[in-house]
Amino acid sequence: MLLATDLDGTFLAGDNDQRLKLYQLIAAHPEIKLAFVTGRGLESVLPLLADPTIPEPDYIICDVGCTVVDGHTQQAIQPLQGDIDKRWPGEHVVEQAVAHIPNLQRQDVPQERRFSFFCGAEAISSELEAVVRDLDCELLYSAGLYLDILPKGVNKGSTLRGLVELLGIGDENVLVAGDTLNDLSMYEHGFIGVCVGDSEPALLKSTENRARVYHAEQPGCGGILQAFKHFGFLGTAGMEAEQRDVAVPGKSDLVIVYHRLPYEEFRENGQTIRRKPTSPNGIIPTLMSFFADGRAGSWVAWSIHEPTDGKFETHTEVDTAQYPNLVASRVALSKSDVDIFYKKFSKEAFWPTLHTFWERATFREDHWQVFLDVNRRFAESAAAEAAEGATVWIHDYNLWMVPAYLRELRPDVVIAFFHHTYFPSADVFNVIPWRRDIIGSLLQCDYIGFHIPRQSENFVDVARGVTPLEVTAKMNCAPRFFTYGCAVGLDEMSTEIKVNDRRICLGAHPVGLDLKRVENALKEEKVQQRMDELRQELHGTRMILSVGRLDYTKGIIEQLEAYERLLDEHPDLHDKVTLMMVCVPAASEMTIYRDLQNHIEQAVGRINGRFAKVGWTPLQFFFRSLPFAELVAYYSMADVMWITPLRDGLNLVAKEYIATQGMTDGAGVLVLSEFAGAAAELRGPILANPHDRSELVKTCYLALTLNRDEARSRMREAYDIVKHNDINVWGDEFMSAVDACRRSEKSLLSELPCKVA
Ligand code: UDP
Repeated sequence: MLLATDLDGTFLAGDNDQRLKLYQLIAAHPEIKLAFVTGRGLESVLPLLADPTIPEPDYIICDVGCTVVDGHTQQAIQPLQGDIDKRWPGEHVVEQAVAHIPNLQRQDVPQERRFSFFCGAEAISSELEAVVRDLDCELLYSAGLYLDILPKGVNKGSTLRGLVELLGIGDENVLVAGDTLNDLSMYEHGFIGVCVGDSEPALLKSTENRARVYHAEQPGCGGILQAFKHFGFLGTAGMEAEQRDVAVPGKSDLVIVYHRLPYEEFRENGQTIRRKPTSPNGIIPTLMSFFADGRAGSWVAWSIHEPTDGKFETHTEVDTAQYPNLVASRVALSKSDVDIFYKKFSKEAFWPTLHTFWERATFREDHWQVFLDVNRRFAESAAAEAAEGATVWIHDYNLWMVPAYLRELRPDVVIAFFHHTYFPSADVFNVIPWRRDIIGSLLQCDYIGFHIPRQSENFVDVARGVTPLEVTAKMNCAPRFFTYGCAVGLDEMSTEIKVNDRRICLGAHPVGLDLKRVENALKEEKVQQRMDELRQELHGTRMILSVGRLDYTKGIIEQLEAYERLLDEHPDLHDKVTLMMVCVPAASEMTIYRDLQNHIEQAVGRINGRFAKVGWTPLQFFFRSLPFAELVAYYSMADVMWITPLRDGLNLVAKEYIATQGMTDGAGVLVLSEFAGAAAELRGPILANPHDRSELVKTCYLALTLNRDEARSRMREAYDIVKHNDINVWGDEFMSAVDACRRSEKSLLSELPCKVA
């Protein structure tokens, strides 16, 4: 069967439960073909295609019947479209012809092959009618306001008739649904029809004697569902499928959805052994701490499992002593799933684009399908774990599509999302072929957190290009964040947006440090020893330290070239400085990093080749990951910390250096890229633009020669921020913001008359 439905007032109306029921019924019955038949222009239909809760139409008839396209490709359906086009004189011909007619106000909405106005009935003069006749067009006036000039003989009903004939569907298998007079033409072709509840009286009057048209009581989707029953579509068994996909609630009040498990797994003698993470990054213990009060919780993460591995444990304990009611819910992924979803696709398509290196991105549809499948499995697991009304906290771009699947399975849960990675503006993000799907999914969240206001506002910028949205609350970013003082600063950010009838709260929460970890490292004897050794090795040479992963976003080549220029321009520094560069290699599957590694190795060789002397190595390069404790020894001994990524979500290394220097009352100087998220939050570092080679040189030289008192007071200012906004503050502030968002949502709902009644 074909359901041909008007949108506003019909398919998009009705109470939420009825809408969800109808949408799920359609999803459960692929034999129901869906056609949107609307007065909107095609562009105004596109936002609906991004909404994962609305079923994708097979056909779209829009512009009051003047445009007809395939719903999946949005390409014209021929020969129908061609026939309509032949009858349309062209926008500017019509515009000129009606220019002298008074009291017509052009509708400022997308429109094609029609010319639409707002006007009162008195504006429809005989002169206008004559002009339109001469153009070989027709007038359609509805709701006492909307006037369309359409090609002659074209309306919703005529185009639907053409489509039905093209598809070869019998009239008794077509159900049309509408609510206003401009839907009337659909009921005039002998199809089965429903006027939903609250329809325009003139439509009801015009259809009251038509035997095949049912006047439903319930508005919107509720009325369409009534019509399904009335006409016996799908039968009783078919109607029951409407509840098919809704998951049964689980027991957890808080569900964390994170790509990594909260423990490490490894295989020994065919057995899976679990142990505490050897190098926890601070976030995992913080997220675990939410379960320390004994609350029931689940942690959804992947676990490698091959079909040949035998039985798979879907649930494991995490730490029964500390978190008695926390379970890990493992999503079984094959090694190939993980390689594609995480190591390849995420790194090759999304990572470069998110960091504004879109030219490096490669997009593969087959990999996207794996990504979707993995995200769906994460969502199914979260849906099975979450108790009624639970909070589900999803982490990062690897899991972008989880909210879309989860919202459909569990409309009741609060979905919170934290974006750990940089988020670019629309000019860059829109390069992603699946941008509508991704934004549509994120807009299913109740709360979305980013590190800094700029990233959050960029998200709003991207979302606005996908769907109409209203900013319903804003806040000033100062004094917590930089406004005009750095490249990623911002003066004001949106904290709440409204999309259709959904409200999404937004917040900026830069991840903080686990200060205890730094403090404990400093106390370790072997760290003290390493510090002594370093002191001796350096014997008076000043150390510039650079630490980061092997990644083009980290600006390693740019930094090496700047260092070469620094040595060229300042021979006074020869013998007196050394750059220690720690570069953490990428996993071998991440092939995109190979060229970069070669370039770095060449630059390192060139610099040492040019400047090294007996007793002085200008550049010491470590191509490996150092244990955190050893890193802290380096942090404490570095005179200058040089962190100049071209783009970075936050940068924890910068904060770790500040913490180490702050705890040891050091006078080290941090030179920080103004494109790192941390730059928007920290006061005290010397900021540098890594795209400007001469500024990199100048700021590094300034840091090396900075007066110690100034260095110490800059460090104190930065440490105050790092110390106060630690990882616990991050977690608590995020959760409080989610709770506040949930509370205000509830009070908003209780104010609605329908809920009170
Ligand atoms: N790190 C480490 N050993 C190293 C280099 C880095 O343990 O040799 C850690 C560092 O302490 C920091 C993290 O890796 O916590 C890097 O985080 P950051 O936010 O700076 O960069 P990302 O790699 O997340 O882009």
